[in-house]
Amino acid sequence: MPAFVIQNLCRGCGVCTQVCAYRAISVQAQLAAVDPLRCRDCEECIFTCPNGAISRLGMISKE
Ligand code: SF4
Ligand code: SF4
Repeated sequence: MPAFVIQNLCRGCGVCTQVCAYRAISVQAQLAAVDPLRCRDCEECIFTCPNGAISRLGMISKE
């Protein structure tokens, strides 16, 4: 399952775009977005985001 951005946690810092080896993440208007067709599920961005704003579908956290 591809990664996705939890929009209200993203601060648009762009760190995730630099760690993604597959160039699957872009930031526009202070908001990151994952291209699910490029994402290879490496999880690098999930561990790198300083705001915990990236998760994977199927990794449902407690609300
Ligand atoms: S690293 Fe996190 S906070 Fe920064 S742009 Fe990416 S998703 Fe948003
Ligand atoms: S999980 Fe890996 S391939 Fe997918 S967007 Fe994050 S860094 Fe890129």
